[in-house]
Amino acid sequence: MSDTFKAILISRDEDKKQSVAVTEISDADLMEGDVTVAVDATTVNYKDGLAITGKSPVVRRFPMVPGVDFAGTVLSSSHPDWKEGDKVVLNGWGLGETHLGAYAAKARVKGDWLVPLPEGMSARTAMAIGTAGYTAMLSVMALERHGITPDRGPMIVTGAAGGVGSVAISLLSKLGYHVIASTGRPAESTYLHDLGAAEIIAREELSGLAKPLNKERWAGGVDSVGSHTLANVLSMTSYGGAIAACGLAQGMDLPATVAPFILRGVSLLGIDSVMAPKALRLEAWQRLGTDLDHAKLEALSTPIGFDDIIQAAHDIVEGKIRGRVVVEM
Ligand code: NDP
Repeated sequence: MSDTFKAILISRDEDKKQSVAVTEISDADLMEGDVTVAVDATTVNYKDGLAITGKSPVVRRFPMVPGVDFAGTVLSSSHPDWKEGDKVVLNGWGLGETHLGAYAAKARVKGDWLVPLPEGMSARTAMAIGTAGYTAMLSVMALERHGITPDRGPMIVTGAAGGVGSVAISLLSKLGYHVIASTGRPAESTYLHDLGAAEIIAREELSGLAKPLNKERWAGGVDSVGSHTLANVLSMTSYGGAIAACGLAQGMDLPATVAPFILRGVSLLGIDSVMAPKALRLEAWQRLGTDLDHAKLEALSTPIGFDDIIQAAHDIVEGKIRGRVVVEM
């Protein structure tokens, strides 16, 4: 590998105006860490879109290499768990926010942040899953811990054609749940049925002002949309059900009442992938290796080049990306 290597860099000028460019950086630019990794594959998540477009204050240090997740190969390590040649995955822990991230040929990180790439899984597959898929898995695990089994009733998945939504549908249908997919893109109906959605409903059914309680329609769900959508989802959750809330594609607000909680015993399960403890990460990645239909994963992922990342970042915040994009380095 040459002294310098390609990277995407977000910079800020004196007027705090943000600019983004594909450039070259060197080892000396990398931040502190006890493991240096060659990035084999990465992806574009919604948060990466927010960082690159500057739409939300995701980036906390400038200049920043964005990219919240990668799969890679250890180049050097002084951490006891890792040695040269190990295949690893990293999601979150401030990557692309406070610590230089995945959109570079190399990353230097804390060994404690890494998990092993699951046996038999390629870097490309791991990034087709990415943080969106890993978050979908954390959401499903939370619902299971709450006792929401397939016999309890249907599951709603909002933001269905997005990254979290697509993987959530695929996982839930493989586990035997009856999945209702909510999407604003009716043209993606075939795609959603192929992933395993049994029913499709229009985004508009859930995106307006919510009543405190509404007709019970599902026992649980994965919501990557927040705002009015989550309020409606809660108001339609059946007695004792639970919703895993992991996203804010519609908004960060939650214009709901406590009625579903106090009159129907509904639970709202918060999902955070960034600081999730290692034991949960290991379980999630192990299950993604076994519980996800890899043919379906292939169908929901699109390969793009390194130079296409910036455009994909704009597209994802505009809701134009279907499923997942994968960048092989
Ligand atoms: P995507 O952009 O791939 O998917 C989001 C989907 O939400 C879109 O595809 C669209 O689905 C739907 N959507 C977009 N805008 C609106 C809107 N205004 N109203 C209603 N629905 C809308 O993003 P990801 O799947 O990668 O991420 C989804 C969310 O989850 C994001 O908010 C992200 O920040 C969050 N997230 C949170 C994590 C955590 O740790 N908690 C980790 C990863 C992601 P459709 O076209 O089908 O309607």
